[in-house]
Amino acid sequence: MTKETKTEKAKRLLTTGCVLVEFADEEKIMAKVAGDTSGYQVWIKDEPRCSCPNRQGDCSHIEAVKMIWRNE
Ligand SMILES: [Zn+2]
Repeated sequence: MTKETKTEKAKRLLTTGCVLVEFADEEKIMAKVAGDTSGYQVWIKDEPRCSCPNRQGDCSHIEAVKMIWRNE
């Protein structure tokens, strides 16, 4: 079994309803993401930020929020 990629995990978070957008406009978005072990806060404005212990700006939580924001 291969490890789930960041993009695959992000898609799974979206399809299972783990992403809750709290606020979004053209410049920023704030969302809560229910991860596998805990809930995280994602905030994207210029720099993406996530409260999870992974590398900042490069985790599946941010990836998932980016997918729904601006339809990118
Ligand atoms: Zn994260």
